[in-house]
Amino acid sequence: MLSGPWKQKLIRYANTGTDYKLPMRNSMDSPRTILGRKITQRKNMNLSFSFQNKIKGEVLYDEMMSKYTSMRIGGPADVFVLPANLRDLQIILKHRGSCPIWTIGEGTNLLVRDRGIRGIVIALKNCFKSIRRPVFYKTSDGQERAVVQVDGGVKLSYLAKFVARYGLTGFEKFVGIPGSVGGSVAMNAGAEGAEISQVLRSIKVMTLDGEIRTYSKSEMVFAYRKTTFPSKDGIVIEAEIDLEKGKISDIHREMDKYLSRRGLTQPLTMPNSGSIFKNPDGEKAGRLIESAGLKGCRIGGASVSIKHANFIVNKGGALAEDVIRLIKHIQVVVEEKTGVKLEQEIIVI
Ligand SMILES: Cc1cc2nc3c(=O)[nH]c(=O)nc-3n(C[C@H](O)[C@H](O)[C@H](O)COP(=O)(O)OP(=O)(O)OC[C@H]3O[C@@H](n4cnc5c(N)ncnc54)[C@H](O)[C@@H]3O)c2cc1C
Repeated sequence: MLSGPWKQKLIRYANTGTDYKLPMRNSMDSPRTILGRKITQRKNMNLSFSFQNKIKGEVLYDEMMSKYTSMRIGGPADVFVLPANLRDLQIILKHRGSCPIWTIGEGTNLLVRDRGIRGIVIALKNCFKSIRRPVFYKTSDGQERAVVQVDGGVKLSYLAKFVARYGLTGFEKFVGIPGSVGGSVAMNAGAEGAEISQVLRSIKVMTLDGEIRTYSKSEMVFAYRKTTFPSKDGIVIEAEIDLEKGKISDIHREMDKYLSRRGLTQPLTMPNSGSIFKNPDGEKAGRLIESAGLKGCRIGGASVSIKHANFIVNKGGALAEDVIRLIKHIQVVVEEKTGVKLEQEIIVI
């Protein structure tokens, strides 16, 4: 953990707003660690945290990422920022110097390594939470539809319930996905044969230079659990979805059906990150893992779920290293037994 005079030094520099390069001493007199790691790892990192006293949101140092991932795994992030608004985000990006940036939403598709994250993590947990009232329109063939503008930090489950209240259909299948709108756009999240891209109309992205760009659906490239937008990197701050008018009671019935199906088939009472592997063409990763006899297979605190073989659960105290070793083991055994090479769905940082 970051401690002692070095912590004071970093915080002082953060507050004074100077672009600060860590003074490197020779190996004889260097402190052994800073921010929890050997100082040699961050030799050339230009730590410009001058945004700390300029933003309304929170800036935390050495924050354990396990608090922010659904797997409850992950070492410390050098700098962890919870912006409060759009302006904060712009200031952070403008003053980040050469620090790498990582954006996280609800942390439900992430595996953060035990050594943590070098650079600045921006979490949209405390901001970008509003949904505008739907704007209804009629198509040329008389169909009633509506466009809903939603911020990137809104949870999908919340959005699903919001649009249901207006009798809008097309979002029911996403009700049980625990991620945020931004994370789900980035991942092109999907369930029950539907993908977010199908209901998306446009997105607003803040580029890593702090500029705001709007991309229409036709400018983005969607693949299985992956979306690429023209600026490649960037933070999804808003999305517009386009839904059809339906019947409120039918919509609620559908959502209940999907939620209870998840309750029956997924290990929702244990920390996990959803599906670990992508489904190969025409196959289910979970079925292959189960047929390879790997249900319940355990390494350290990480175990293949008994309930759903494509889920790895944290049985308590699991390390990212345990999960990574288990993932590799599953890939080797499944390929040996079925000839199929499973591709990872979760993002490892
Ligand atoms: C129990 C459970 C069930 C799940 N079921 C499904 C399912 O049915 N279908 C499915 O597709 N997924 C599923 N998931 C995985 C996960 O919920 C989705 O991938 C979700 O879309 C991730 O959103 P997030 O906000 O948690 O993103 P995070 O996990 O925080 O991040 C995922 C990726 O998105 C990027 N990202 C996050 N926010 C932004 C942003 N605002 N702008 C740009 N990039 C961003 C991150 O950098 C990272 O690369 C499940 C997970 C769990 C735990």
